[in-house]
Amino acid sequence: MNLSPVPLSQWEIGCCGRLMIAGPCSAESPDQLKKTACGLKNKGVNLFRAGIWKPRTRPGLFEGIGEKGLSWLKEAGDLAGIAVATEIAQPEQVELCLKYGINAFWIGARTSANPFAVAEIAQALKGVDVPVMVKNPVNPDIDLWIGALERIALMGVNKLAAIHRGFSTYHKSTYRNSPLWRIPVELRRRVPSLPLICDPSHISGNREHLLTISQIALDLLFDGLIMEVHCNPGEALSDAGQQITPAAYEKITKKLVWKDISVSDSELNQRLNDLRNEIDQVDYQILDLFASRFDIVKQIASLKTEKKLTALQLKRWSEILESRVEYGMKHGIPNEFLVQLLELVHEHSLLFQEQNLME
Ligand code: PEP
Ligand code: MN
Repeated sequence: MNLSPVPLSQWEIGCCGRLMIAGPCSAESPDQLKKTACGLKNKGVNLFRAGIWKPRTRPGLFEGIGEKGLSWLKEAGDLAGIAVATEIAQPEQVELCLKYGINAFWIGARTSANPFAVAEIAQALKGVDVPVMVKNPVNPDIDLWIGALERIALMGVNKLAAIHRGFSTYHKSTYRNSPLWRIPVELRRRVPSLPLICDPSHISGNREHLLTISQIALDLLFDGLIMEVHCNPGEALSDAGQQITPAAYEKITKKLVWKDISVSDSELNQRLNDLRNEIDQVDYQILDLFASRFDIVKQIASLKTEKKLTALQLKRWSEILESRVEYGMKHGIPNEFLVQLLELVHEHSLLFQEQNLME
């Protein structure tokens, strides 16, 4: 199916090309929402966000204020002159949001991973002309993400966007949710017209990395950001560690640089081309080396078969991992990249050995 979303400028919430969303993780009280919304007034925010129903990982955590928060959210947005958005996870919530005049919706990461839940919400969105943003599913599966977007699009929703909020992975990462930038970049490649928004708050999980992640997103052609902003972050009932004050939000957004995609300067263009040629050379050298490595793996595989040895040799694998990480780090290669690369190479070497056994 072809997704053919309209550009952000047609969302009728006053954004022209860029979409900036800010607001608390959860709606907590009328006062909290009003203070936060007014703090964000005239700071380039197109949508004021707040979660009304919170899908929490563990029971017993703050699960949202529920329906009464919808009128508080709308009033706070009206007071600040900003359109409002909230998360929808069930069809009934769509109807309630429409009743209270909520201007845009997003589908959360735990919901977008479930095709049945998305299909039910999509049904409730049939014929509704409200923008819908779909967060990536918690697991790194681009087709599941695109599938959720398609289910919504099938119901006639054409004000659509994707939100990248990072992925749960088993690797320890600097961040709460691993950004795996290659996935949103691939989404952009497959559906270039789909607006792509980054959620640095849920990727980061703390306040420290918001600027870095936001700038990376802009440099990767994202169309906007959704950031958690609270008038009193320390007291927030959910995600307290990653929320920032409206003043901090302003500081961060002022530091962000929206760069050009095309190069007009011919000298710069030449320099870039030279460097890209160098990269091409290095890439082919790496591929030749991988080919040699797999040749050796093949020889090892036949020896192991002959001597009835297991493909996995734990001691050897630990030695490889430790020595390569130590060597790579000395040469300035980041640890996270090295570990993932080595694990991938090792996994495929094992599979390669098994395939050779089967032949
Ligand atoms: C949120 O935006 O507050 C939220 C719950 O996000 P996610 O679905 O990305 O975890
Ligand atoms: Mn949150």
